Amino acid sequence: MHSGQKQKLECALYVVATPIGNLRDTSLRALDVLASADAVAAEDTRNTLHLLNHYGLAANRLLALHQHNERGAAERIVALLAQGLSVALVSDAGTPAISDPGALLVEAVRAAGHRVIPVPGANAALAALSASGLAVPHFLFYGFLPSKPSARRRELQPLVALPYTLVFYEAPHRILECVADLLEAFGGERQIVLARELTKLFEHIHLCSLADASGWLNADPNNRRGEFVLLVSGAAQPEGDGGEAGRILAILLQELPLKQAVQLAAKITGAGKNELYQQALQLKENG
Ligand code: SAM
Repeated sequence: MHSGQKQKLECALYVVATPIGNLRDTSLRALDVLASADAVAAEDTRNTLHLLNHYGLAANRLLALHQHNERGAAERIVALLAQGLSVALVSDAGTPAISDPGALLVEAVRAAGHRVIPVPGANAALAALSASGLAVPHFLFYGFLPSKPSARRRELQPLVALPYTLVFYEAPHRILECVADLLEAFGGERQIVLARELTKLFEHIHLCSLADASGWLNADPNNRRGEFVLLVSGAAQPEGDGGEAGRILAILLQELPLKQAVQLAAKITGAGKNELYQQALQLKENG
């Protein structure tokens, strides 16, 4: 069976990811579900029609679900599910409910006891992270910061000490002021990745220090065009706190002489002996 062919779907809400630019990032399963669902709830029905037309598909029934009507639309969709029908949810781009409408609907559908089935696919944050070259295991997805500068600066403060890569969405008309606030909050030494127009013709992923980011944006108006994901590297671990390696070292130091504790901690954790030695000296100094 080729994709996009109508089939009988189980009664459920299907949360369907759509492309963030390149239409070929639509999954085969997404096409199946969009062609087969009894109704498709779309953030902008024109956008969804464009995607469906591209694949020569027709939806059974198109409904609008956007940030201004989500509660009312959710009630109507729960009523459709109560009749045993299947409903697909799509947003304009990427994964619904991720900085997009959909979370209220999912909550209402689950509360009414119906199944919610994710149909995963494109997401701008993960696409940017996967190609960023920031080799850290943990990240925090923040999404959009407030558009007002004072609120934005306030919301950045609790993020400053976090040791995780921070992931923001930003619109092109605010990119310069947002990057200026990031510089003020985090300082110039942190790294930033500006990932613009992902999966599109003018895709560009630029890594630099926060100190250099405004200069890069100002160097060419094209650098400020399109949609952006901003990744900011996390805070360096405070001195004397070496994470898991530091914890193990501290335990060993209580039982063993310094040199032996360092050697054993290096063997257990794979951390560098020099770094552990410095840490051990500091731990001893701090008592
Ligand atoms: N639900 C979407 C997702 O899964 O990524 C996000 C929707 S949110 C309303 C739109 C924001 O996502 C844009 O302002 C931009 O920050 C980011 N974005 C979406 N598409 C992008 C792309 N192709 N390149 C870079 N950023 C993108």
